[in-house]
Amino acid sequence: MPGIIAEVAAATTALGLAAGGIAYTSLWPTSQIAGRALIAGTNAEEIALTFDDGPNDAATPQLLEVLARHGVHATFFNVGNFARLRPDLTRQVLAAGHIVGNHTMSHPYLSTQSPARVRQELADCNALLEDITGEAVRFFRPPFGARRPYVMRAARGLGLTPVLWNVTGHDWDPIGVAGILANLDGGIAHNRRHGQGSNLLLHDGGHLAMGIPRMDTVRAVDQLLTERLRPSETASATRFVTVDVWAS
Ligand SMILES: [Zn+2]
Repeated sequence: MPGIIAEVAAATTALGLAAGGIAYTSLWPTSQIAGRALIAGTNAEEIALTFDDGPNDAATPQLLEVLARHGVHATFFNVGNFARLRPDLTRQVLAAGHIVGNHTMSHPYLSTQSPARVRQELADCNALLEDITGEAVRFFRPPFGARRPYVMRAARGLGLTPVLWNVTGHDWDPIGVAGILANLDGGIAHNRRHGQGSNLLLHDGGHLAMGIPRMDTVRAVDQLLTERLRPSETASATRFVTVDVWAS
């Protein structure tokens, strides 16, 4: 079953909301009001690890090592300006079998940008990533989850599928490995109860600069994979997937 949740016929609902309501709703990661986006599938055993704001020389290589050790593939939404600084890291991510997606060139808040600027941010990042990797980019995640219908249209116009998430690691907060894990476990359990796969938002970088420390995220991922892939009598059928399995 495709993971794209059908666009909510919500145009009239959206129009009926106050402006503040629309702004709020378009930031809520599982809202479909601004247009269709990929979130997760209906197999509750499927979990996608997604990492935004890299590549980052302070965490991406370590994260690649952890993922390789567990034999798991993930989805990385790269910021163009950082990929330009470290194209070797972006190439390593792809060469290791992960997906590289578009997270804009400079990580602006797209909902306050002009349609022309939005298109430029997406097109420039696509061109750069395709130049670095030699492969077409298929997926896009809006910075901060901020989107308007024209943001989604610009993405679709470039052949990009917008991807949001339904579990937030909050790994930008100083909550440590245990705090990140608690957020992930709670979110996964919630989705499982609702028969949904889990799309985990994490960060291997920080949007303000290259070199942001993200080792708590790397350690949390290591622990999550160790726990969820541990062979045992009650081993679940948990499968770590990349977001393309949910694309129709
Ligand atoms: Zn970001």
